[in-house]
Amino acid sequence: MDKLDIVIVGGGPIGIACGLEAQKKGLTYVIIEKGPIVNSLFNYPVNMQFFSSSEKLEIDEIPFISKEAKPKRDEALEYYRRIVTSNKLDIHLFERVESVIKQNDVFAVTTTKSNYVSNNVIIATGFYDIPNKLNIPGEELPKVSHYYKDPHFYAGQKLAVIGASNSAIDAALECYRKGAEVSLIIRGPEVGQRVKYWVRPDIINRIEEGSINAFYNTNVTEIKDEEIILNSPEGTRSLPNDFVLALTGYKPNFEFLEKLGIQLSDDEKRLPAYDPDTMESNVEGLYLAGVICGGMETHKWFIENSRVHAKIIAQHILDSR
Ligand code: FAD
Repeated sequence: MDKLDIVIVGGGPIGIACGLEAQKKGLTYVIIEKGPIVNSLFNYPVNMQFFSSSEKLEIDEIPFISKEAKPKRDEALEYYRRIVTSNKLDIHLFERVESVIKQNDVFAVTTTKSNYVSNNVIIATGFYDIPNKLNIPGEELPKVSHYYKDPHFYAGQKLAVIGASNSAIDAALECYRKGAEVSLIIRGPEVGQRVKYWVRPDIINRIEEGSINAFYNTNVTEIKDEEIILNSPEGTRSLPNDFVLALTGYKPNFEFLEKLGIQLSDDEKRLPAYDPDTMESNVEGLYLAGVICGGMETHKWFIENSRVHAKIIAQHILDSR
């Protein structure tokens, strides 16, 4: 088995950017992705529109042309897929990395399909695989989902959307407009301040006019087949319910990072240790790229500001040779 310069774990926008940069710099590499190309984006809501304009999502200044200034999910799928195919990037799809073990200064990477040996490894595994659970009775019922896909499914149904950030607000508005009876359950006193500035007035107006029923300072304490139980400062009440979208965010796979020997901060942020000048973690030759760098602060890094990681890492690998 030939020893590679880099194994890149994760074929999201940033893993792809790392592969492209490695290829340009003449480094041998492989990208290993457990799903399809840009798996997280593929799993986003079908009508999702990015908050970034298309040029801010570009990799390596390859033009991203979209109909509107802010592209839709299907345009992003097209863009990143074309980068992979037209540059003939070496990406292995539907193959999951199971372990990365460093022995005698090289990394042994084991996947569900093969084994690789590499001088360096880049972890670009994002955060979209593991939802923040509510940990309440009934959360495992089939009517509950932590991912929102398509509003059509909820037409004519009593839908509870839990959460106050972009994903929850987008889902609440879309489903209301396709005929769902939407209740929005918000733990705090208001709609999140980070909700897109052009969407926030829309949701607030829909709540004020009574089109969407909002419950503030409220927690869902139990989900049953035909109702949910709410707890607020006013007391406990039951709400008739058909479906629940629990859109309370996602988190990186910390267990995977710890198994690789990456140190995490002790506080609730669980920030992985890395040098921001090189993106190298506390393990020599093991790099972090993309949104994984933010730990629990999943809003901190996104495509726009983390696409630079690819160039930083490739340069550091070349300089360290
Ligand atoms: P990801 O895209 O999550 O890619 C990680 C990949 O790693 C996945 O494909 C996953 O399948 C794979 N993977 C995980 N574990 C393994 C394993 N063990 N083996 C192999 N593969 C593995 N950002 C912006 O800049 N602008 C926006 O407008 C914007 N809008 C967003 C809207 C929504 C609804 C969401 C959820 C996010 C948005 N973001 C936006 C954030 C952006 O999508 C992410 O920052 C981006 O996907 C990060 O890219 P990444 O490559 O770091 O991670």
